[in-house]
Parts: sequence; C-alpha cells; structure tokens
Amino acid sequence: MEATFQCPYCGVGCGLYIDDSGKIKGDFEHPASKGDLCKKPLYLPKIYEQGRIAKPLFREDKNKPFREISWEEAYTILKERITELSSEELYFYVSGQLLTEESYVINKFVKGFLKTNNIDANSRLCMTSAVSAYKLAFGSDGPPCTYEDIDDADVFLFIGSNASIAHPVLFKRVLKRRRKTDQMVVVTIDPVETETAKKSDLFIQIRAGTDTVFLNSVLYVLHEEGWIDFEFVDKYTEGFEEALEYARKFPPEIASSICDVKQEDIYIVAKLFAQSRKLISFWCQGLNQSVNGVAKNLALINLHLATGRLNSKGCPFSITGQPNAMGGREVGYLTNGLPGYRDVRNEEDRKFMESFWGVEGIKPQPGPTVTEAIDLILEGRIKFLWTVCTNPAVSMPELGKVREALSKVFLVVQDAYWNDTCEFANLILPASQLGEKEGVMTGSDRTITFCQKFREPYGESKPDWLIFTELARRMGAKELFPYGSSKDIFEEFKATTEGRLCDISKLTYEDLPARWGKRWLYEDLKFPTPSGRARFNVAKFEIAQERGTFILLTGRLKNNWHTMTKTGKSPELLRGEIPPYILMNPLDAQELGIEEWDVVRLVSKRGEVDRVVRFANVKRGHIFAPFGYPKEFGQPVNLLLPDRTDPVSKEPDLKYAGVDLIKVACGEKAWKGEL
Ligand code: SF4
Repeated sequence: MEATFQCPYCGVGCGLYIDDSGKIKGDFEHPASKGDLCKKPLYLPKIYEQGRIAKPLFREDKNKPFREISWEEAYTILKERITELSSEELYFYVSGQLLTEESYVINKFVKGFLKTNNIDANSRLCMTSAVSAYKLAFGSDGPPCTYEDIDDADVFLFIGSNASIAHPVLFKRVLKRRRKTDQMVVVTIDPVETETAKKSDLFIQIRAGTDTVFLNSVLYVLHEEGWIDFEFVDKYTEGFEEALEYARKFPPEIASSICDVKQEDIYIVAKLFAQSRKLISFWCQGLNQSVNGVAKNLALINLHLATGRLNSKGCPFSITGQPNAMGGREVGYLTNGLPGYRDVRNEEDRKFMESFWGVEGIKPQPGPTVTEAIDLILEGRIKFLWTVCTNPAVSMPELGKVREALSKVFLVVQDAYWNDTCEFANLILPASQLGEKEGVMTGSDRTITFCQKFREPYGESKPDWLIFTELARRMGAKELFPYGSSKDIFEEFKATTEGRLCDISKLTYEDLPARWGKRWLYEDLKFPTPSGRARFNVAKFEIAQERGTFILLTGRLKNNWHTMTKTGKSPELLRGEIPPYILMNPLDAQELGIEEWDVVRLVSKRGEVDRVVRFANVKRGHIFAPFGYPKEFGQPVNLLLPDRTDPVSKEPDLKYAGVDLIKVACGEKAWKGEL
C-alpha cells in the first residue's frame, strides 16, 4: 500500500514515500526534503518484524523468566501498581520518537490525570540546552528560521555538529548551495576533524568544552573592530552591555590559549559574522550536552544579535537529534511543559490547561529530570518507572548507576523492539511502530508531517496512545480520554495551540505537511519576552574538572541511529561501524605504543570499556568514541560518562569525561576473541 510519512531517524524530518512494492523513496512533494533522503530509512522494510515484541510479558521477580500475559492482565497490573503508590513515587520517561498525539496523551495522563510532573523525555539528553537558550534569548522555544534559508546564505558555521553524517540531507542542501555560488564559506569548529570539517573551507580544532570562551572572544573582536550592528542592538535587543562586559575577559590572546586555537581564527569568524550577507550557525549536541551547554548556546546567539543576523541576514539554527523532539516540545513533554509551549510554573498556563482538560491541581513545580529520577530511585523515593520508546540502559550517562536503579525499581518497558532495558523490566508492553499507526511528527524546521498507516500492527502490539488511553479508562478517566483515533487527539491538541507561537489550530491532517509559524518566527522582530526585545545573556564559561590522560568525546555513527534498535538489524548499515571503535590521534597513540586496530581499555572512575583504535585527526589529548552501541557489541561507552548536568537545562555533560587508556590486545583479530 502506498503511503507517505516522516523518516523515523534524525530530526531533519525528511518526507518518505513507500510504494506498492514496499520500497522506500524520498517524497518529492515534501517541503523540508524535496525527495532527498539518506541511506538509513531505505532498510526499514527489512526490519518490520525482526526483534519485535509481540505480546505483553510479565514477571514479578526480575530473576525469573517472563511469562506471556493478556493486555487485560497487563492493565490490571498497571492499575494496581499505580494506585497503590503516591503520584510522586511514579516516574515516566518518554521519547522524541513518539508521534505528537502519543506524547500529548501520555503528558495528559501524567500531568492532568495522575497530577504529577514526574515525566521527562530523552530530549533531556539532546536538546534541552537549546530549548533553555532559545527561551532566554527570544522568550520562546523554536528555531527562528527554516531550511529555505540555506538556499541563499553565504556563510555556514557548524559548531558541535557533524551534520555531514548525523543530518546528511541538511548538509547536502548546504553543499548544493555551494555548487551554485563560489562566494560561500563553510566553517566547522570541533575537536575532531569530522566529515563535516573535511568538507569545510575552514576547520578550527578547538579544545573540548571551551566553546563559550571562543564565542565570547568573537563578541569581543566584533566590538573592538567596530563591527557591532548598533542600530539593530538598540532597536530590538536588551542586555548587550552586560554580555559584552563579560566577553571582555576573553580577548583573542587569552581565548586562543584556553581554546588552543589560532587568534586569527577568532578574527576570521568575527569578520564572517560582520561582513557576510547571510550567515546561519548550526549546532547540535556538541554544544548542548555540556555542563556549560546553555551558556554555549547563548554565546552563539549573542553573536547573531550583535550583528543583526536574523531573518534575511541569517539565524541561529539548532538541529534536532530525534525525529519528533520538536513535536514533544510542542506538547510540553519535559518536566516543566504543558501543551502549546506552556509551562507548569506559569499560573495562567496551568489554569488554562486545567480548564481545557476539566481537571484541577496541575502541580506548579517541574518534576525531577531523568538523571535526578535515577538518584530518587536509588534513594527509594521513586518506586515505579515506565519507559516508552527509549533505551536508558544504553543511552543514559553513568550507566553503572542507571543499571542499579533499573534493577531496583518496578520497571515497565513499552517498545516496538526488544532492547537492553528490557532485561531489567517487570512488565513489557508491545508498541506498534511507525507505519502501523498514524499521527504527526515535527522536524527541525517546524514542518509537520502526517505519517500514514501502511501495515497492520505487529503481533498484539498497540499504538502508544491507545495503551495509555485504555489504561486511563480502566482507571476511571473515560471522559478525559475519549479518543477513538489519533485524529481525535490531534483535534484536541491543536485547540491548545490557538493564539500561541506554535499555533496549528487551523491545520488538519489533510493540510500536512505544513510548517507552523512564519518562515521567520520573529519576522517582525517582536519577541515574546516581557519587553518585546530579544535578550543578550551573559554567557559564563564553566568546565568540569576530570581526572585522566585523555578527554573522552562522544558522538554519532554514520549509518546508525538511536541505540541501533532498528538500524543495527541491517548488515548494510553496520558495515564499517563494527567493531566498536575510538578515534585517536596517531601521535598520542605512538607515545603509548598503540597501533591502529589494537584493542584498548578506556578506564574512568565510573567503569571500563574496550574498543578498537582507529587513527584520525583528533585533537591531541582527546579521544572520540561513537555512542549507541548496545551491549551485544560490548559495554556501551556511556558507562564512562558522568551524570553531572548543566545547571539550567539539566542536560548531561556527555561530551567531556576523563579517561586513561591501557592497551589490552594487538590487532583487529584480537577484538573477536577478546571482547
Ligand atoms: Fe532520515 Fe535524517 Fe536521513 Fe533524512 S537525513 S532520511 S530524516 S536519517
């Protein structure tokens, strides 16, 4: 059956088309991707039924095998467990892979019906620093521009983003722009010479964790050189003097030594901000996943404000990791959110949602974030954890601690595919995957795609929205959850957005794909802040103290996504990515007597992980390890990573861990025997 849907992998949000023979192609009608796509979704049809969970499974004792149970029994177990605990002893951990309707229903179930804000999403590991920075700078979440802006920009800055492999269709659009003009410059700032860096005109190999210093120094130079657009600053912004005052700490001679870059590179970036026609800065987890993540984002946004680089002159553009993290943000699935970009801390927002849902008592304090919830489980204060479409046993930092918590808590895992977290579960619920249900997703540039159903649900699996709806009804909330289809939920959700920045109240499934907001979110340069002006923020530099010979960085693999639950089942996508490896500078390796393909043990105070060594242009003293390998390929690298977080966004510092290195075996063949 022919159908169109959004790609379930990265946040570019490419439109896909499945033809009658089951082959997947790009959807030429889709405004975000115009028929383009990368390799990953091509292999989806091969794994519709591989490694799926077919029936609900239960075991009271985690040391015993699971037994198959009926859905009715599963709902009875859930109802009993949930009602015997207080709402603050429950926790829900959801995903940017869910359809918007599903995130909406789960959020309503938790915040509106159970009356707890104990819900977080795996966007916490990915995008919350960008969300916090957008709100601080512009007064609202949401990327200010769209992919169309790529087509007439002349400078692209990639910082903390390896878009060439992580968001390939977006990067191809940048390269296409290059083919049309010889006036274009691509700059990449990263500690690793990534594929994106190799295709750039200028690669600035920065020391990990020091981006805030670099960007503050660029602001310093802009001011020193008389390159600030004061007309824009005076008319549309506030807070410039305070931000500049702090940036004065970092003249290029100081910043270049902290960041270990050339002073000249700081001048070049400042000049590009000052003198290009249109500049877009793209970033991703390289800025976000840090104790200094929000400040890094703000330091970058400050440069756009200082040079008036918004709308026709450019924009700051965070790239989303997951396919529907944007949709999740729209329904407010983080600990503080409510639908339509509302916030539990805002009384007016709470009152609106209480009246809209017909409930009372939405809690005014955000719930604990997922890393905080792990601590609360270990303290015995959270006793029930329900994960939906996410794999914390691989993706969370400080995995030793996470696994201990997963072993201790009553754990419900709801997923389409068997994953490493299932090993810790008491109850497993089979969920339908994309194509077996319908609903919408929003990509990085705010384009919403309707994903059509094109096959029947696998086994006894059900759409995630239906599982929560059926449970809620059995718990006495029939009127709150009257849905017979995802369309019913979409109609309800969209009404909550009326008059909000993310207003989709007039859209129907038939109108999609379509983008919410204007092409430029702040086209009139009026911002949803109390003063109506965009805000400069003081971007303070912080860095963690870590012990170890090397700084361990983590990042994406080329052809795999999430924790390989889908992509890892296709040999075509695993080629070249197995065995799990680290990238290392050959000069560092030489000093330790390590050769390419040797097996080394990475040791931190949090654990040990073995990896094969590959040589690359990684900054001296740094090591790069791709994340996302499940346990079948050895211990996940997240075992080594700290769970400390940014103080504002509470996003973990996943790109900065101290490790020592010990050679444990020689040559590639050793890997097969040793790991
Ligand atoms: Fe899917 Fe991202 Fe590839 Fe597009 S670029 S096809 S959204 S993985």
